[in-house]
Amino acid sequence: MAKVQTHTFDAVIVGAGGAGLMAALYASKGANVAVLSKLYPTRSHTGAAQGGIGAALGNSEEDHWEWHAYDTVKGSDYLADQDAVDVLCKEAIDTVIELELMGLPFDRFPDGSISQRRFGGHTNNDTGKPVTRACHAADRTGHMILQTLYQQCIKNNVNFYDEFHVVDLIRVDDTVRGVVAIEIATGEFHIFHSKAVLFATGGWGRCWEVTSNAHSLTGDGPAICLRRGIPLEDMEFFQFHPTGIYKLGILITEGVRGEGGVLINGEGERFMAKPEYAPNIKDLASRDVVSRAIYLEVMAGRGINGKNYVHLDITPETVNRYFEEEGSERRIDRAYIEAKLPDIADFTRTYLGVDPVTEPMPVQPTAHYGMGGIPTDIDGCVVLDSSNKVLPGMYAAGETACVSVHGANRLGTNSLVDLVVFGRRTGVHMASFCQETALLPLPENAADEVMASFEAMLKTEKGIKPHELRKAMQTTMTANVSVFRTEETMSKAMKDLAELRADFQNVVVEDKGKQFNSDLLETWELGCLLELAEVTAVSALARPESRGAHARDDFPDRNDEEWLRHSFCHKEGDSYRLDYKPVTLGRYEPKPRVY
Ligand SMILES: Cc1cc2nc3c(=O)[nH]c(=O)nc-3n(C[C@H](O)[C@H](O)[C@H](O)COP(=O)(O)OP(=O)(O)OC[C@H]3O[C@@H](n4cnc5c(N)ncnc54)[C@H](O)[C@@H]3O)c2cc1C
Repeated sequence: MAKVQTHTFDAVIVGAGGAGLMAALYASKGANVAVLSKLYPTRSHTGAAQGGIGAALGNSEEDHWEWHAYDTVKGSDYLADQDAVDVLCKEAIDTVIELELMGLPFDRFPDGSISQRRFGGHTNNDTGKPVTRACHAADRTGHMILQTLYQQCIKNNVNFYDEFHVVDLIRVDDTVRGVVAIEIATGEFHIFHSKAVLFATGGWGRCWEVTSNAHSLTGDGPAICLRRGIPLEDMEFFQFHPTGIYKLGILITEGVRGEGGVLINGEGERFMAKPEYAPNIKDLASRDVVSRAIYLEVMAGRGINGKNYVHLDITPETVNRYFEEEGSERRIDRAYIEAKLPDIADFTRTYLGVDPVTEPMPVQPTAHYGMGGIPTDIDGCVVLDSSNKVLPGMYAAGETACVSVHGANRLGTNSLVDLVVFGRRTGVHMASFCQETALLPLPENAADEVMASFEAMLKTEKGIKPHELRKAMQTTMTANVSVFRTEETMSKAMKDLAELRADFQNVVVEDKGKQFNSDLLETWELGCLLELAEVTAVSALARPESRGAHARDDFPDRNDEEWLRHSFCHKEGDSYRLDYKPVTLGRYEPKPRVY
């Protein structure tokens, strides 16, 4: 084997999105930290987050963190752990203020306080009406968070290894010793030897065909964990955001509906107001509810022109009519839309040739967010099983982790909060862990196994092309493990995925070179996606109930008696094993969800 360069740090953080950077900032206050990212840090998907970050600041009307907590638990269809939700919603308030003090340019109300808008599922708990809780910087909130945190990390001397693609975790029994990465520019392997490792690698929406997720969201962190004996939690719950641009999947933020936008079917009806959907909160019901409603309207032939999409209408003409009907004083105009939703207006003009000020936008549900992931406790420590046994030195945070605060369905604005609240807690814990722990020796030849697997991939000359496999995976996931599922569709997906996994053994990488070999790295990422697709299908098939984003036609009811529990999917050889742990309840007893 070729010689591998070794670098030593106290802590290695994989991922430079909001979660990785917030953790790096805090870990670097007490430890020598390296951040490895396959993308240049500010290109991480956090930068695409649009609508807002939720915190009960109460800047324009009464609000309380307990209301935020209740909405989060209700939105999760009662699967979230309520101790973790309390941490999320309580600490949201001072983390948002901390971001403000770091210089994040939030939009402002006339009195100078941070501007807040409505978002799906966030309510005044007394009246059940939408509350303004989403703090935002126009529709570029994530972009601003990422830039702000990156600057702070640079100021705090965090060491960045940009365009280093992590491909393995070095685990020896119940300890971790670092990671193996490929330097994308040279194709060389490097070992990062450390006391602690954090995976903050983001989501895996690329398992599906129509998705809001960036090309890089391929679930590398969770897939590596699975291979190294760490289970994945609640993988059956994957969120479909109701408003992706038709066919393209590019996200239209829920902030559009927060600002008054409405969903309209082919018959011109504002269908969310129907009694079977969400007569109280209407277009601002939680995402699972709205996605299912769109799907049902389309199935009933009420899509636009009978096709599989509906309209999202933010034209002042329509919105002001509904404001008037509802007795609201609010009115919007072109200038307001251009100021509050500039990127959205730009996207729809560019990609659709539609001016949202004068025409409605064609939308359909788009694969958006993984509620499940690498299981952790409330300090980001990774747990190995349903008894919550910690793997010391191993951490996960952000979308890739499952704390679990989102349960079966995440509310809009709660991911950005999750990144900064749990990123901060994880960074603090890592710093103290590194201070108390000695660096354990590297095992010999720590990179050999993964290097051999890359060599084998490069040797294959005859077989299937990666793009064919990717397409087949995305097609079966979209058809069979989507907004609605049944035993029949999921079994079909599992059969297809098993065949694709076998085909993957003969996948052909055409570029045999070393420098910037994206063909090779994307093929490796495809291997991760295939694994996560399978875990999603296996976990979903094993849950015979409907809860949050997991809606089964063959088991339409929620079954709290037997299924108010989290799933853990372990990889054992070529097969998977599931076990379960109970949900941590608190103030809120499970009730039927009415919106
Ligand atoms: C279009 C869009 C809009 C959204 N809008 C909102 C919103 O308004 N409010 C909200 O709360 N949420 C929103 N979300 C969700 C939220 O933005 C994401 O869940 C969140 O940003 C994920 O952050 P993260 O830090 O976990 O990971 P990401 O920001 O996705 O970053 C992942 C990092 O991991 C690195 N990485 C991955 N694999 C490897 C590897 N193998 N080796 C090295 N590095 C690796 C990448 O380089 C990257 O730096 C939105 C999501 C999308 C897609």
